[in-house]
Amino acid sequence: MTAAILLSEAGHTVTLLERFERPQPLGAGLLIQPTGLRVLQRLGLYDDALKAGARVEGIDGRSDLGHSVLDLRYGDLDRRLHGLGLHRGALFTLLFERLKRAPATLVTGFDVASIRGTNISTADNRKAGPFDLVLICDGAHSRLRGGLAPAHRAPVYAWGCFWATLPDPERRFAALLHQRFRGNRHMAGVLPVGVAPGGDNNDDVTLFWSLRVAEMKAARMRGLDSLKAELLDIWPDLEPLLASLTSFDQFSEATYRDVAMSGFRRDRVLFLGDCAHGMSPQLGMGANLALADAATLAGALARASSLDAALQLFETTRRRTLLVYSFVSRWLTPFYQGDARPVGWLRDLTFGPACAFPPTRRAMLTMLSGTRRDWFATFPIGDDGLPELPLI
Ligand SMILES: Cc1cc2nc3c(=O)[nH]c(=O)nc-3n(C[C@H](O)[C@H](O)[C@H](O)COP(=O)(O)OP(=O)(O)OC[C@H]3O[C@@H](n4cnc5c(N)ncnc54)[C@H](O)[C@@H]3O)c2cc1C
Repeated sequence: MTAAILLSEAGHTVTLLERFERPQPLGAGLLIQPTGLRVLQRLGLYDDALKAGARVEGIDGRSDLGHSVLDLRYGDLDRRLHGLGLHRGALFTLLFERLKRAPATLVTGFDVASIRGTNISTADNRKAGPFDLVLICDGAHSRLRGGLAPAHRAPVYAWGCFWATLPDPERRFAALLHQRFRGNRHMAGVLPVGVAPGGDNNDDVTLFWSLRVAEMKAARMRGLDSLKAELLDIWPDLEPLLASLTSFDQFSEATYRDVAMSGFRRDRVLFLGDCAHGMSPQLGMGANLALADAATLAGALARASSLDAALQLFETTRRRTLLVYSFVSRWLTPFYQGDARPVGWLRDLTFGPACAFPPTRRAMLTMLSGTRRDWFATFPIGDDGLPELPLI
């Protein structure tokens, strides 16, 4: 939607093909990082996002014994920086309402099955195209990537999560992403996410519970009381929150992939967002990177003298940043979700001191905030307190 808005408003004729008949929000709450907020600002949605979401000042991750594992505050990087917990539905609604005001054409119920050149068709032979450029933005579990992408791999992680959105009227979990770990096999997180679209109370939080994908079915069979007992065993403070959890149906399941591509382009087809660089959600970066992809592409098209030059500019601008985030996400995930117990112990021993030591704390904060440009440089913070992203 971000790409469709920005490109159509720049004068391109844009058709957005979406498989769902009725576009609707799906999925867990999101942490929007300062870089994602920059893109929302570029779309004119910053103030509305702040109203809908919950301001997040940093992360407080602890072992089940209460020892600090992650203690990071955006304000230590720049006092004006912060994140925003947002219902996925709220982000969807903001973008969807914005899309309606843009001159792009939205075609729903169009489940793309094949792309030949720039001609697109569904399994029942509905057709669109040819186009000058096709953007493939069909998410981490993309069906289109297989036959079209340059050399790539996209294995599903063995670990996923259950998540549910619950009210937190006493705001016990306000202002921070709270996490509790027992080794790397047990992890729970609570993210304040503000108000659901059409909702009244801006005190919602999303609860995440990590588990092996292969164990999701068995966990459902064991039932809600068993799951609550497991959660309370590592994090007793969850008790008031769990009171509003009355059915297992309140939980949804998420699985993720580790997508790596040798390049983001083949001829006149460009891969954006999770489809190109899906990762585990440990860094809370996927949606932010997808937003930045779209806005960078719009910037490249506005500046370059030809489509080929614009695609080249897009790739060179995004590649180094995406490589860093993909690498760190891949490297970090086993510290949070994995089977090798010593990795969890190593995390508990080393991450706390790394958060306290100024140089490593700064490096961790630049990763968290999305402001790392590559291994050596960071994005500067603008006068308005948001990161300056190239071409955006
Ligand atoms: C549990 C969990 C927590 C997360 N937390 C965070 C977080 O805190 N912060 C963050 O930044 N990111 C987070 N993420 C990652 C984030 O959700 C993704 O990075 C983001 O949604 C990617 O956006 P996208 O537009 O690339 O893909 P998607 O959001 O997956 O959108 C893909 C779109 O393509 C459509 N589509 C798919 N196939 C077809 C087809 N064949 N034809 C037509 N349309 C099709 C779909 O219907 C959908 O509308 C989290 C992910 C998970 C699973």
